[in-house]
Amino acid sequence: MSQPILRFAPSPNGLLHLGHAFSALQTHDWAKGLDGRFLLRIEDIDTARCKPEFTDAIFEDLAWLGLKWEEPVLRQSNRFAIYRDAANQLAENGWTYPCFCSRAEIAEAATGTDPDGAPLYPGTCRHLGRSERERRIAAGDPVQYRLDMPKLVGKVGVLTFTQAQPSPMDRPQIRYANPARWGDAVIARKDMPTSYHLSVVIDDAAQGITHVTRGRDLEAATDIHVLLQFLLGLPQPIYTFHRLLLDDDGDKLSKSRRSMSIRALREQGWTPEDVREAVSL
Ligand code: GLU
Repeated sequence: MSQPILRFAPSPNGLLHLGHAFSALQTHDWAKGLDGRFLLRIEDIDTARCKPEFTDAIFEDLAWLGLKWEEPVLRQSNRFAIYRDAANQLAENGWTYPCFCSRAEIAEAATGTDPDGAPLYPGTCRHLGRSERERRIAAGDPVQYRLDMPKLVGKVGVLTFTQAQPSPMDRPQIRYANPARWGDAVIARKDMPTSYHLSVVIDDAAQGITHVTRGRDLEAATDIHVLLQFLLGLPQPIYTFHRLLLDDDGDKLSKSRRSMSIRALREQGWTPEDVREAVSL
């Protein structure tokens, strides 16, 4: 097998907290343990929420933690044209369709929730005729593109992926992907020609990532990623999902808890070793 390539892919929409430090350190240490490469990717497609100062803080905090990554760092905000091409390819193949529904309309028509707890879209716009779609696009109505899941489920059949155990990473297990539970997931948003799902699979392939390591909160999203890799003819990495750090109430550490930011801990006199100890590494 070629040299393993792992990545840490934070979104610069806040300061890194202990949960990020844990994820970054795990991924870095696994890469080293596998004699592999460690890459960093800045996932800043959400230009309204992501800020350059948070990107700078990521570099500073990770360097302070003692991590070394390869340059140049891939920044998703430089790659919208690439994502747009892929989204167009999916649309031209009839695998996505334009959806004009508002958030309120979706919430009202929802038939349940997806694995993230968001309203499950009932496929209203899947039934629009071609001329109506063209008319609304020409009129400049805000449009997002959704996977035509009923069509795709029939087309792709059974999809699987390989999950490795975090430690050691050599006991793989084959898992079934179940993209249907996401319904007609959004692949290109109204405010951008892409989505987290589309950008992440394109960039994991572009960076030659062999092992995706991420928290269990993103485990279910792998269903969509495996489907997109199949549709776009992209290689499929091995997946590993690490545990999440929880706060005292049992909730996932979130960026809103400022006191937990690496920056704040540094200011309180913590050392990188203290961080490693706090996350039990
Ligand atoms: N950018 C995502 C986040 O900060 C993680 C991306 C991934 O691991 O797929 O939650």
